[in-house]
Amino acid sequence: MSLHGKTALVTGSTSGIGLGIALSLAKSGANVILNGFGDASAVVAEVAAVAGKDGGKVGHHPADVSKVEQIADMVAYAEREFGGIDILVNNAGIQYVSPVEEFPVERWDSIISINLSSVFHSTRLSLPGMRAKGWGRIINIASTHGLVGSTGKAAYVAAKHGVIGLTKVVGLETATTQITCNAICPGWVLTPLVQQQIDTRAAAADGDVEKAKRELLAEKQPSLEFVTPPQLGELVLFLCSEAGSQVRGAAWNIDGGWLAQ
Ligand code: NAD
Repeated sequence: MSLHGKTALVTGSTSGIGLGIALSLAKSGANVILNGFGDASAVVAEVAAVAGKDGGKVGHHPADVSKVEQIADMVAYAEREFGGIDILVNNAGIQYVSPVEEFPVERWDSIISINLSSVFHSTRLSLPGMRAKGWGRIINIASTHGLVGSTGKAAYVAAKHGVIGLTKVVGLETATTQITCNAICPGWVLTPLVQQQIDTRAAAADGDVEKAKRELLAEKQPSLEFVTPPQLGELVLFLCSEAGSQVRGAAWNIDGGWLAQ
């Protein structure tokens, strides 16, 4: 499938899942706007190398998606430099683990703002451009935790359930158009976000990181294997395709069997 001529904005794409999705989109010929913290120049070079010399244009916007005005600035940058956003992948997210009664209020606020409110803002700001073009894809990276809970993850689980609710509403509000809105719900993916949880688990036990990794998978993910960023990238490409055009308001799990239990 060629996405040549389309522009994709992937929030939180300097690392992990977002980077994997950005690479898949670039391979398919799309222009890609990266976003996220860290060394952007190395990531821009990596994605541009995959796009190749005949491929799409690659840019980076450093918006902190917890700040509404920075999201607005990023959408304006996309309009100015790329002619607008055709594919919006809301991926930026953070985690914090603590029992609810000890959950720091500022951590709650930042998880809700980065993992949930940013999805509302980038969606409402991108939709008018998609409506004007008569085509669009909004793909929200939720989580299995958008459909089921786990202890210690009050803010994350609340935010991800919210993302799935928002996805359904936007899916309905665009149902008669060529714009679709869907959520993807990955199980465990071995990224820095999850490595941090594995390291905490190992430190609380005997320090054996490989054992902690195996135990983390065994607890929830029947395949005992991590989902990979390229697999998520391929699912995004499917949702962008004509074959995916009647998938609307869905919460699509890709989780090694987590939610089949
Ligand atoms: P990661 O930590 O590897 O990457 C997170 C990205 O978001 C980075 O590029 C970071 O710079 C960016 N980011 C963080 N805060 C930001 C902010 N305020 N503004 C802009 N960018 C910001 O994490 P990941 O595991 O790749 O997670 C990506 C998404 O996938 C998250 O929404 C996460 O909840 C979701 N997810 C992850 C897993 C998993 O197992 N890793 C499973 C299900 C869902």
